[in-house]
Amino acid sequence: MSARITVQNLHKSLLQLCDTMEKQKNYLSQLDGAIGDGDHGINMAKCFRGVKQKLATATPQDIGGMLNLVGSEIMNSIGGASGALYGTLFLSMANGAQAKSSIGLEDLVAMFKAALAGVRAIGKAEAGDKTMLDTLLPAVEGLEKSQKESQNLASALTAFDKAAHNGMESTKDMKAKIGRASRLGDRTLGHLDAGSVSCFYILKAFVNAYDE
Ligand code: ADP
Ligand code: MG
Repeated sequence: MSARITVQNLHKSLLQLCDTMEKQKNYLSQLDGAIGDGDHGINMAKCFRGVKQKLATATPQDIGGMLNLVGSEIMNSIGGASGALYGTLFLSMANGAQAKSSIGLEDLVAMFKAALAGVRAIGKAEAGDKTMLDTLLPAVEGLEKSQKESQNLASALTAFDKAAHNGMESTKDMKAKIGRASRLGDRTLGHLDAGSVSCFYILKAFVNAYDE
């Protein structure tokens, strides 16, 4: 059978993501504080504390059900603009994994395309606006390209990880054009966007879920 991400490994990896958000709480708030209102770490920690509680007591059988659980919990936490966007990201991904105990590259591409469409539909941000989308968009485009080139899951995930990281870094040289930070205009240059960093952590959870 070709390489796949299993529900058990994704469950473990998402629990680790919850700990990462807790650990990076001050860093994320500090980034948001430089050009926004300084609450991004608090918002993420709150959302993912709830997710951790839900995941810790669940033994998910299918990836779709598990991602639904994560997305609904984030939605219910009402954590700033980013809460609704990340809730949508996970809920959009869930549809492509209903009743699946494992997913392959083809599933992952479809799921991330849905996530991208969902985040774009409600956030209305464009590439280069200095948001989480600047991490998500190049990562998803990279993943699609890997699939078209018939790469295996391992190398596709390596490219996905790299594209997400580069996307995150690219926000440093961008001027914020949407959201709270856009009010500061030129003064946002030279700072990483907080959401691009938390988005990188989320995408990394899918990379870490693959156990070769
Ligand atoms: P708030 O802006 O309500 O304080 P957060 O601080 O939790 O919420 O999240 C801010 C992050 O959300 C930003 O760093 C940016 O990446 C992301 N963001 C804000 N608005 C949008 C949008 N319209 N589309 C995509 N991402 C957005
Ligand atoms: Mg904020």
